[in-house]
Amino acid sequence: MNIEPVNRELFDNVMVPNYAPGAVIPVRGQGSRFWDQQDREYVDLAGGIAVTSLGHAHPGLVGALTEQAQKLWHLSNVMTNEPALRLARSLCELTFAERVFFANSGGEANEAAFKLARRYAWTHFGPDKHEILSFNGSFHGRTLFTVSVGGQAKYLEGFEPAPAGIVHAEFNNLESVRQLISTEKTCAVVVEPIQGESGVIPATPEFLQGLRELCDQHNALLVFDEVQTGAGRTGKLYAYEHYGVTPDILTSAKSLGGGFPVAAMLTTAAIAESLPVGTHGSTYGGNPLACAVAQKVIDTVSQREVMKGVAARSERLRNGMMEIGQRYGVFSEVRGTGLLLGCVLTEQWQGKAREFLDAGLDEGVMVLMAGADVVRLAPSLIIPEADIDEALLRFEQAVKKVV
Ligand SMILES: *Cc1c(COP(=O)(O)O)cnc(C)c1O
Repeated sequence: MNIEPVNRELFDNVMVPNYAPGAVIPVRGQGSRFWDQQDREYVDLAGGIAVTSLGHAHPGLVGALTEQAQKLWHLSNVMTNEPALRLARSLCELTFAERVFFANSGGEANEAAFKLARRYAWTHFGPDKHEILSFNGSFHGRTLFTVSVGGQAKYLEGFEPAPAGIVHAEFNNLESVRQLISTEKTCAVVVEPIQGESGVIPATPEFLQGLRELCDQHNALLVFDEVQTGAGRTGKLYAYEHYGVTPDILTSAKSLGGGFPVAAMLTTAAIAESLPVGTHGSTYGGNPLACAVAQKVIDTVSQREVMKGVAARSERLRNGMMEIGQRYGVFSEVRGTGLLLGCVLTEQWQGKAREFLDAGLDEGVMVLMAGADVVRLAPSLIIPEADIDEALLRFEQAVKKVV
């Protein structure tokens, strides 16, 4: 084995330069804390971008993974497997879904959702009804199709020609949807209940209810991208439950695996019919290791105490950040639901989210950005209250340094 030490400089010599990682290289974690190569400790309010929903090295997840690792790793979709069947059954029991497709990332689950929406319309209404209506500022992944459906033009630059048949309306603006939706052309409307990447911007209830009505009027499918909001993140298993609006297709990834790559597309039995044998697939999708871990995540986060705990932790974190924001004049608002929070920088500090993130790391607390104007928090759903308090103390020190 190659045991020569590695450091941040090596990144530039061996990695494609599409990321700009910080200097810190974490080597181990426990709960909501992690340690770097120099054994410095950090409190984790980032959760691997809304992924490590039960913190680091959660004994239940370690147990589920190692137990499955000793049994069976992979056999392909030529055969099904027990963990995948169990997980699909749980997801159907706990949500609106009647059918599940497994993938390995959010982008891949969305790719499946968009392909299903196209094919459903093609099957029932013919090839002209293929348009996907999405929203400015939305994020749906980095494959060519998902990045094209996404509403951030900069992510598509230089990768054109993009797939055709995609239009973008204004988020939280039903009138802009009415102008673009049509029975002849629109096959699906795709929306994040809370726009994550572009600044933790919640959809209003009227907006999602209005989208549901417009989709029904125009025979279009309503797709909720819950890759960031799903699997307990907002204090419900899926955010649609807060809104009382049920989608036709829902995608889940990030928190679903608690740090192990897994994703799911949920839908109804009738819609699922449009992906018959041979129309779509994924080699690793439904892998036993991934499904065993996700099962443990779902079993844990769907417990009532855990969901109630998310609301309590959210309050504590939100209030603490708001106090810091007011004391130093850095945040105008803390928005979001559950443990997906966006601290919106005041005008004076707009564009400077990165400075707060870097100063946080210096003080031993990890936060995220969501665009340059928002400090985003997406910690473990079971982060101890003492860790929240410690993170707030450290973040206050970081803010003192920046201002
Ligand atoms: C992160 C994210 C994706 C992409 O997920 P990957 O696992 O990176 O492919 C898609 N949609 C939303 C809303 C996300 O937050």
